[in-house]
Amino acid sequence: MKPAAFDYVVPGTVGEAVGALAEVGERARILAGGQSLIMEMRCRRCLPELVVDINRVQGLDHLRVQDGGLQVGALVRHRAFESPRVAPGPLGRLLSRTVVNIAHPPIRALGTMAGSLAWAHPAAEWGAIAVGLDADIELRGPAGVRMIAARDYFHGPHRTECRPQEMITSVRLPLLDDTVGVAFVEHRRTHAGFAQIAVAVALTVLDGVITQAFIGLANAADRPVRAHAAELSLIGAEIGASFSYPAPLDGHPFDRAAGIAAEGDADPCAQPYADVEYQRQVVAVLVGRALYQAASDRQAHAGHDGSAGERR
Ligand SMILES: Cc1cc2nc3c(=O)[nH]c(=O)nc-3n(C[C@H](O)[C@H](O)[C@H](O)COP(=O)(O)OP(=O)(O)OC[C@H]3O[C@@H](n4cnc5c(N)ncnc54)[C@H](O)[C@@H]3O)c2cc1C
Repeated sequence: MKPAAFDYVVPGTVGEAVGALAEVGERARILAGGQSLIMEMRCRRCLPELVVDINRVQGLDHLRVQDGGLQVGALVRHRAFESPRVAPGPLGRLLSRTVVNIAHPPIRALGTMAGSLAWAHPAAEWGAIAVGLDADIELRGPAGVRMIAARDYFHGPHRTECRPQEMITSVRLPLLDDTVGVAFVEHRRTHAGFAQIAVAVALTVLDGVITQAFIGLANAADRPVRAHAAELSLIGAEIGASFSYPAPLDGHPFDRAAGIAAEGDADPCAQPYADVEYQRQVVAVLVGRALYQAASDRQAHAGHDGSAGERR
């Protein structure tokens, strides 16, 4: 189907883009990569009167390390994250392991991280990363700039803190130091389909003891969530140096945390091919797997921080 008729503007600056949004409000839509918007318009689930194409806006394609974080401009495409060198250390590894789960190469060549966060699909991988790592999202509107923590940004499926007159201008992801091991694990029904469940983990391990944990979940609720209860259960846990997977031992801190994430942190919705109980089981399996992989990743990179590495 063809989209319904709409007006189209191509601003050259953020100010012009925001001005165009302010004129039309809820009836305007930003066009970034178009990988979600165009389909919605063609299905006529989304009927904007004005499309504000930001692809020629100056200064939105930056990707730079600054003030302890990776600043990602609103026009940075998914594919920019395919190399682990996109950010130093564990953050680069985590982003490159995440992005390969998003659709397939032609879509990754056009779609943007900011567009994904704006679209706010509960199964989107970048949502789990943003919430899991405590990212900040910069919104610009007629009243100026405001920074929103990712944990406060998502309100539900396709509902966010971004007002109709505002746009995301950048996302800030905190850098992770070399004491952190990372993993991204996803289960989906078809090759390029959306995640049934996805899990992002960043685990700080010092001398075999977990001192900090970040666990972000996609499609485990009506929005991306951080598995706080599971994270807390891990702090202070001694995991030693034996991280081989699969080797789940009953009572291992990872398996306990996986159960807590599934039963306490996740609040899954029934899916066409999975009821709530099944979704919880997938959360438990994937969180356990991601924790083992993050610990292995930490072990593989032990010593990069100049420390003695893991206790053996
Ligand atoms: C076949 C297929 C498979 C896919 N699989 C996956 C997948 O596995 N995982 C996944 O996460 N995604 C998947 N996607 C979606 C893809 O990641 C999109 O690129 C992404 O959801 C939207 O990014 P975009 O830049 O294309 O945004 P657009 O499609 O241009 O915009 C999407 C929405 O966000 C708004 N928007 C865009 N940028 C901004 C901004 N800067 N500020 C405010 N609002 C903005 C638009 O107005 C629109 O409402 C898939 C898409 C397709 C077509």
